Amino acid sequence: METQYWKLRKDEPLESQLEPAAKLLRQGEVVAFPTETVYGLGADGLNGEACRKIFAAKGRPADNPLILHISEMDQIRPLASDLSPMAEKLMAAFWPGPMTLIVPKSEIIPEVVTAGQETVAVRFPSDPVARALIRLTGRPLAAPSANKSGKPSPTNAQDVLQDMEGIIGGVVDGGACDIGVESTIIDTTGKEPVILRPGGITEEMIQEVMGAVELDPGLVSPDQKPKAPGMKYRHYAPKAPMFLVEGPEAGLGVIRAAVMAEAWGLKVGVLALDETVQHLPHTARLVICDAGKDMAALAENLYTELREFDRQQVDVILGEGVPTQGLGLAIMNRMRKSAGHNILVYDQGLFRKQSGQVPEFLQGMVVE
Ligand code: AMP
Ligand code: MG
Repeated sequence: METQYWKLRKDEPLESQLEPAAKLLRQGEVVAFPTETVYGLGADGLNGEACRKIFAAKGRPADNPLILHISEMDQIRPLASDLSPMAEKLMAAFWPGPMTLIVPKSEIIPEVVTAGQETVAVRFPSDPVARALIRLTGRPLAAPSANKSGKPSPTNAQDVLQDMEGIIGGVVDGGACDIGVESTIIDTTGKEPVILRPGGITEEMIQEVMGAVELDPGLVSPDQKPKAPGMKYRHYAPKAPMFLVEGPEAGLGVIRAAVMAEAWGLKVGVLALDETVQHLPHTARLVICDAGKDMAALAENLYTELREFDRQQVDVILGEGVPTQGLGLAIMNRMRKSAGHNILVYDQGLFRKQSGQVPEFLQGMVVE
């Protein structure tokens, strides 16, 4: 299949530029488009046949349900059989934005969208391109991240094309995404709101509005089954093995590990904050990705840089962990998965193994 490509121009009305993409979507084809979180792989969310094409394009397991994206607050009503006061309050506080609500589903939702669950996931994005495209199509759009299953989510159109060229109907290029990690998923069907996946709307922000918020036990403990089916899969994985350095002196630990790996003869990808990067030596075998100065920058750059390491064919990747407050919870959830839970803690000049593998180049230097 030839994949059409539309680069949006700022000086022309969005609607006329998006009409060919909306037309393909109405015909039941799959089209990738930008949102404020990551690029989505869109299809008519009320057309089961069209949604099945998303699963085929991504190689997505059939038990992993899709999120329906809407362009007006009230578009959720026909999709849900019930909206609790909790859901209404969250909608008023955080929509449009990077928050997905789990609500009881209505009978108009195709089975394939919910993967057999009694609930459906709905999000109202803030990105103007996403909203205009949904409005023009006239349907809610099912839109998981536009990557092959298991790979890092794309945050620009080139990364989408790398995975989807020749496989889907088209790609709308609206530039790079702002937030860079996926939406916060909140289950609204119980007594308290429960975060099933941390994201751009933080635990602290929800706590402030709702008074109480819980974290799905499956997020915290590796032996508990996560309630969002997709969270159990290895996600966001770059090609090279990745090790995460966490703890109070994570930055220093990354520098020390990078120097050791380089001395071992490896080509090393380093993903760290500005302050750490400034202290790294500049040698041919170090591929340094400066994530920026704070957590928002790290979230925005994370997936782009993991894909860059794939292109540069590094042998090993070292990532700098950040505290799990605010956006840090979402970042660390993604980074730990990328690293396959290979985690070291660096504190007071010592490496300690937290979980997973210990890299060869640090053998003998890590307290197990
Ligand atoms: P993606 O759109 O690829 O970022 O993934 C969507 C995420 O939403 C996956 O982790 C799904 O398991 C989760 N999800 C979708 N629908 C539901 C639902 N009804 N209940 C719980 N999780 C859901
Ligand atoms: Mg995804």
